[in-house]
Amino acid sequence: MAEVEADARFRVPPALSDENRSFWTSGAEGTLRFLRCQACGYYLHPPSPRCPNCGGTELVPEGVSGRGTIHSFTVNHQAWDGDDTPYAIVLVEMPEQVGLRLTSNLVGCPLDEVHIGLPVRVVFEHRGDVWFPLFERDEP
Ligand SMILES: [Zn+2]
Repeated sequence: MAEVEADARFRVPPALSDENRSFWTSGAEGTLRFLRCQACGYYLHPPSPRCPNCGGTELVPEGVSGRGTIHSFTVNHQAWDGDDTPYAIVLVEMPEQVGLRLTSNLVGCPLDEVHIGLPVRVVFEHRGDVWFPLFERDEP
């Protein structure tokens, strides 16, 4: 998995906690990780102190393939940060578990080519203590 250059786009850095640190820093090793319940195998996202499936509390970060498909998306045209360049906000479903979805941005892909079902793969944008998991089109 690749790391992309930070662009000029403004990103709100997350407040790191013991609960979410493994998610936001997993890109340092180039692997997307989610907390996974050791009792039932359920992946949790967003991070939480207890498994929503079985109530288990033994949660360990585990790597996933980083490949997924676009479950839904929208194109933002609002200049929230003063930059009026449109960009894609995507909801990516990971193949490891039905319903394991991550909201992110699609980068390096013309906006008129974004569609539901598009195969994507994770890339990381490193800023400070955080590796933002972004997605690019996955070439076959
Ligand atoms: Zn569980």
